[in-house]
Amino acid sequence: MLKNQLNKEFCRELQNVAGTENVKFNGDIPQSALHDWSTEEGGTPAAWVTPRSTDAVSAILKLCNSHDVPVVPQGGLSGLAGGAVPSEGAVLLSMAGMDQIEEIDPSSGLMVVGAGCILQRIQEAAQDADLYFALDLGARGSCQIGGNIATNAGGNRVIRYGMTRELVLGLEVVLADGTILPMMNRMPKNNAALDLKHMFIGSEGTLGVITKAILRLHPRMNGANTALVALPDFESSIRLLSHAQSTLSGRVTAFELMWNDYYTAVLEETGQKPPVAADYPIYALIDMQGATPESDADAFQTMLEAAFESEIIADAALAQSEREVETFWSLRDGISEILSTRAPSISFDVSVPLAKIGDCVDEIRAALSANFPGLPAIFFGHAGDSNIHLVTGPTTEFDPSGEHIEKTVYEIIRTYGGSVSAEHGIGLHKKPWLSYSRTESELATLRLLKQSLDPRGILNPGKVF
Ligand code: FAD
Repeated sequence: MLKNQLNKEFCRELQNVAGTENVKFNGDIPQSALHDWSTEEGGTPAAWVTPRSTDAVSAILKLCNSHDVPVVPQGGLSGLAGGAVPSEGAVLLSMAGMDQIEEIDPSSGLMVVGAGCILQRIQEAAQDADLYFALDLGARGSCQIGGNIATNAGGNRVIRYGMTRELVLGLEVVLADGTILPMMNRMPKNNAALDLKHMFIGSEGTLGVITKAILRLHPRMNGANTALVALPDFESSIRLLSHAQSTLSGRVTAFELMWNDYYTAVLEETGQKPPVAADYPIYALIDMQGATPESDADAFQTMLEAAFESEIIADAALAQSEREVETFWSLRDGISEILSTRAPSISFDVSVPLAKIGDCVDEIRAALSANFPGLPAIFFGHAGDSNIHLVTGPTTEFDPSGEHIEKTVYEIIRTYGGSVSAEHGIGLHKKPWLSYSRTESELATLRLLKQSLDPRGILNPGKVF
């Protein structure tokens, strides 16, 4: 859309409220704002604006609302569901300019930040204050806290600290009509009526724009104990997790599973030497962080030895140095390298009740090989959080549109009472499948909420609902 296709008066007013230097139209819109990490294609945006204050966000939304101009909030654009790709004719609202760290309060264990603050900066600022911000994911260097909150991001430490929702004490949100909703609660306990902030956590930019957050910090950790463990079967992984949680007093920080297909693929792609032999059905990467490295290491080793004696685990490698910790994690994080050689691929981010994960994976594997013989499929995931990732591909010769492969997998997820999106959100990518995980009455209630908070439908139209 050309600049003059937007009402001229609107364009002038947008520059007035945001500052001319913070607004771009048409061909001047940064190319990087046109896509996120998903393969979803967006529409053609009309303008790009990067506000510097909550008042500016409010004025922009008020203006867009009164002219029925769609607005797409954009964080670090690391989303995997297409939630931040442009809607046709939209104003792209980049939150990058609101990246201030306003306050760290060590005694209350909280930090006040602008929505555009990059996750890694928050982690480092917490560490500098001898504290710990527990959210962590592979996109830490580019994703913003506003995007993390808008997607209720999960990541590597959910098993111990919960999803982003659990790490947010307070929020400031601007509604579609420009109303500023200050919910800057600083207390873990506040039951003065319904806690409205939860409506916006995970709403993927469809109900309001997050401008500030008060984050919950935890005591600083001083080291990780990490092991890569080979298991005889999926049942043993469940036994190992409950054994580890009970003997380590619930201090397991990560419990990642890799099925043999994933483990062998990642060894092949990265050329790494296997820390444990590559002929077991399933592997667990288990991590416990703590504040007392020496006694933690003893407790961790004792836990592993007991698991070995009880024949829960078949083999194990215990990381002896920071470098080995990184090597073990690089196997789990090696998915990026696998993806680059398997394009076009379809990646799934699903969840299934923990005890059923083994059967569900077996059923998906059998259905894929019956319907698409020869289609490569690898399984891994944050299994301690009931979250499995599955990558199929290259898919071209099996199902160019990918729709049949998706249907095969999501049908099975539905029968297990699982979710089509464990942590990445719905965005555009999962929209056709949302009804597999939400009942008609839930969807109707969600639409009611959308209608009352954004009656003109300007916020991130076409996404999620
Ligand atoms: P964007 O991609 O810019 O936006 C995502 C959604 O949030 C969009 O709907 C957008 O409209 C909305 N939004 C953004 N900012 C705001 C705001 N201020 N107010 C209102 N709405 C807003 N995700 C996980 O959950 N767990 C993982 O382990 C994980 N690992 C990843 C690893 C890699 C290498 C990559 C590339 C991505 C990974 N992701 C993961 C996905 C992604 O990083 C998360 O979804 C992240 O939270 C998105 O943040 P963002 O700032 O990039 O948001």
